[in-house]
Amino acid sequence: MLKKLREFWEKSIIFRVFVKKYKRYFIFGTISLVAVDIINIFPPLIIKKAVDILSGEADITKIATISGLFILVSICQGVCRYLWRMNFIGTSFRCDYDLRMAFFEHMETLSQRFFQKYKTGDLMSRATNDIGAVRMAVGPGLLIGLDAILYFFVIPPIIIYLSPRLSFYTFLLMPLTPFIAYKIKDVIDKRFRDVQEHFSRISEKVQENISGIRVVKSFNMSRQEKETFLGLCKDFMKKNLKLAVPQSLLGPVFEYITYMGIIILLFIGGKMAIDGAITLGTLVAFQRYISMMVWPMTAIGWCLSLLQRGSASMRRIDEVMEEKTEIIPKDNVTLQFIPKGEIEFRDVNFRYDCDKEWILKGIHLRIPTGQRTAIVGPIGSGKSTLVNMLSRIIPVNDQSIFIDGVDINTINIKALRKYIGFVPQETFLFSERIEDNILFGVETGKDNNNVQQFARIAGIEEEIQELPQKYESYLGERGINLSGGQKQRITIARALAIQPSIIILDDCLSAVDARVEGTIMKNILKNFPGRTLLVVTHRLPAIRGFDMIVVMKEGVIVERGTHEQLITVNGLYTSLYTKEVLEERLG
Ligand code: ADP
Ligand code: MG
Repeated sequence: MLKKLREFWEKSIIFRVFVKKYKRYFIFGTISLVAVDIINIFPPLIIKKAVDILSGEADITKIATISGLFILVSICQGVCRYLWRMNFIGTSFRCDYDLRMAFFEHMETLSQRFFQKYKTGDLMSRATNDIGAVRMAVGPGLLIGLDAILYFFVIPPIIIYLSPRLSFYTFLLMPLTPFIAYKIKDVIDKRFRDVQEHFSRISEKVQENISGIRVVKSFNMSRQEKETFLGLCKDFMKKNLKLAVPQSLLGPVFEYITYMGIIILLFIGGKMAIDGAITLGTLVAFQRYISMMVWPMTAIGWCLSLLQRGSASMRRIDEVMEEKTEIIPKDNVTLQFIPKGEIEFRDVNFRYDCDKEWILKGIHLRIPTGQRTAIVGPIGSGKSTLVNMLSRIIPVNDQSIFIDGVDINTINIKALRKYIGFVPQETFLFSERIEDNILFGVETGKDNNNVQQFARIAGIEEEIQELPQKYESYLGERGINLSGGQKQRITIARALAIQPSIIILDDCLSAVDARVEGTIMKNILKNFPGRTLLVVTHRLPAIRGFDMIVVMKEGVIVERGTHEQLITVNGLYTSLYTKEVLEERLG
């Protein structure tokens, strides 16, 4: 029993989020709360005294002393109230901060698969709404709950002391409370989860419409989208109203029980006072105490609903926190690793899902240090998948990919990525200054004067110089919009800025014309001599001079060799090449 209770406590959000880390604040807060609740006993007793004095032989000096006492008591109450607020509510904001940081940090370690499983809007609502609900539970929820419990410990003994018989009658109805609370809390829990889930769907919709606003407009979908959104919002309102029913019932039901107590008090207590069994002062004090019990009765309900919400939200946060980092750090990893640049794929097989088809089938490929290699092939042949594996954006089997002869799974992932300049197929830039974007991967404190040099190599220097604020220009929502080709070149500058040993370009010049692509390629070769260069492209003429060209089809390497060798084979490469040359001539 005790063990179960302890387990329950250790699993509760109050312990996990608040008490475990901020024990001191919890203890101080509880002490000041206990103090307030004990002090709370006194005002009705003081009034009882005053009423008894007034109904006997009135003495003004005694009344004055009592008033003085009253002031003293309220000052003490004020100080203690301030203390518990600071300790509970203040700390709840620290918990909020911890949780948000942990959530964000964890998300950063998760792999692509995770981000396919959860939509952006859903994750956003977990990171904001749900964390907010947890804070409400561990701050105000905990405070209210503790306060209510203390009331139950403090007030009943004093009224039993004043008159056991009267206490018995007035508190007759009280056992009803926990029973009703238990029934209602289940309903609240279920409906609240419904509401939060629905909110996630709304965030998703907003997020999709904002990021895809151009598509929405160009397909004239604004109206339809508005209608779908309206529908979603209506359902959200309905679900909230459904949740409001049990929530609104809690308070009145408890208050009703308490007021019934006061009615009983008037009848039975009144008769006892007339009979002289109790003094008038005791009757007045009783009334005050019963009124004071309204608060813990409603508070219990309120606290339960906050705790329910918080726990439901915590489960949604845990769901994400329990997502395993697919790329598991090993114990025996090499922390320091400065690769020369030899890459080897040894029988690499890969599929995105166990029940899906194989995307890469038995890939064997050795790229010596400093070799310029191109990977070509039709769309969907697995080129991006293959190069993504090198920086372990997707998980890799042990003993399948080696850099300088070292299995990449045994290299610390940060150390590995530090020397791989990877330009992914999809461009993404932050809404920050151009300079910040280019220096994104560069460790702070390093010499930053080379921004222009990297921009020049990536063939974007001149265009940046033409912008009014040059490298200081903000991108995206807060600033300028660049063309697709300009963005692609900035991402190249970003990859080059880390001075990588291995440069990987995944079809990242599709939006610039063939001539510019050729120039950038030459710039990279000239400025990064001896580095291993791996280029995925469909512009075959741009890679004519490469040391090796690998042709992929449906996850298999079908041809490899230099341009001259491949052309004579007259296979897939030849047909891709002639098609591309024709297109460039026509285009
Ligand atoms: P390429 O770069 O040659 O066009 P990809 O490596 O992008 O080819 O894709 C190879 C295959 O893997 C395609 O059939 C594609 O649908 C599939 N694929 C790519 N990325 C994912 C993913 N994240 N989840 C599931 N399947 C994927
Ligand atoms: Mg691709």
